Amino acid sequence: MATVVMKFGGTSVANIERIQNVARHVKREVDAGNKVAVVVSAMAGVTNQLVGWVKEASPLYDMREYDAVVGTGEQVTAGLLAIVLQSMGYRARSWSGWQVPIKTNSAHGSARIADVPGGDIRKRIEGGEIAVVTGFQGIEPKDNRISTLGRGGSDTSAVAIAIGLEADICDIYTDVDGVYTTDPRIVPKARRLAKISYEEMLEMASLGSKVLQTRSVELAMVYKIKTRVLSSFVAPEAMKPFRIDDIENIGTIVCDEEEIVEQQIVSGIAYAKDEAKVTLLKVDDKPGVAARIFGPLSDASINVDMIVQNVTPDGKHTDMTFTVHTGELARALDVLKKAKVDIGHFDVKSSADVVKVSVIGVGMRSHAGVAARMFKTLSEKGINIHAISTSEIKISVLIDAAYAELAVRALHTAYGLDSD
Ligand code: ADP
Ligand code: ASP
Ligand code: MG
Repeated sequence: MATVVMKFGGTSVANIERIQNVARHVKREVDAGNKVAVVVSAMAGVTNQLVGWVKEASPLYDMREYDAVVGTGEQVTAGLLAIVLQSMGYRARSWSGWQVPIKTNSAHGSARIADVPGGDIRKRIEGGEIAVVTGFQGIEPKDNRISTLGRGGSDTSAVAIAIGLEADICDIYTDVDGVYTTDPRIVPKARRLAKISYEEMLEMASLGSKVLQTRSVELAMVYKIKTRVLSSFVAPEAMKPFRIDDIENIGTIVCDEEEIVEQQIVSGIAYAKDEAKVTLLKVDDKPGVAARIFGPLSDASINVDMIVQNVTPDGKHTDMTFTVHTGELARALDVLKKAKVDIGHFDVKSSADVVKVSVIGVGMRSHAGVAARMFKTLSEKGINIHAISTSEIKISVLIDAAYAELAVRALHTAYGLDSD
């Protein structure tokens, strides 16, 4: 008998029929004797609608009330799934974030889980009840307010519950049957990975592959929670119930690098459309100028990602290019305008029409030539690179948004990732 956490995303619970389908997946596990906690997202589109209403109500809104509104979508699904399970003869109850309680910090809108829950739910599921927990929401205990974990946060709720319950597996059911070498909706030749290391998945997620929320992978990595990505669109009865000794022939397992026998040099390609480029032209080239540019941005909690500095032909000036999150572009430009007295003269150009494309693989640690192949492939397609950043297991380039799909497809082929 195993303890299983099953998480279902928005498209998997999009209507009552889909919720009934989810209930059959749960039934399969319970009938096999597994102890089950389910984590659900809001029905597809609901969170977007709630966010839209908040913005319509007032462009300057209180984040605590934002959380009170956008966290409600999950509550509807949790209640509905509990009702469907009960109608099938099972003992089930819904749990909201505050009831568990999933305690978070006070960063409303993208709160971090501070305390991993267990207690009550554990007792109930051990007694044979099915726990249906709202994803995405938690409680900020200091002010006793509802908090939410950031978009895609139900994945993180699921891993947190798995930690609290010391579950044997955290199964993330979604609308694709695993983690692919790149987004299968962009590249039809993408291949499903049987396994991916925590580290690679972390890079993939943080570089734009939204199949798992970045923080869920961080948590799973730290607490060594075995996580699987699978499809809820496979007929529930066609799948075998979870067994600890037989998890490898379905979906994608996110696990330790050592557990992966056939390691590729490049495992995946990710792209992110949410970065914007800022270039400061003709800044004085003298000591301290970078500090005067990036200091105020950091003071304003604006994260800077890629940075490129070029010296202009006269040797006295420099052009500084960097990227920030698109949502922060306006604020970044404002901060720079205010810091102009300290920075000195500059002209500024900015564009949100860029995309960051990244190749990821732990094999890069021991193989040379990965970057060279990336640059060659892009140059053969006539794609210009605006900025580059690297880490031990990834290389990212910033290019014009219009070339995003072309670049991802070409790189996918160049690294031998295409399916036959
Ligand atoms: P859910 O609503 O179940 O949480 P998401 O939309 O958050 O689902 O995540 C699933 C989606 O992630 C897929 O539909 C797919 O388009 C996208 N995706 C992006 N990159 C990848 C990848 N490398 N492998 C699989 N899916 C990916
Ligand atoms: N419903 C939330 C969102 O759309 C959380 C999630 O689905 O994971 O972002
Ligand atoms: Mg998701």
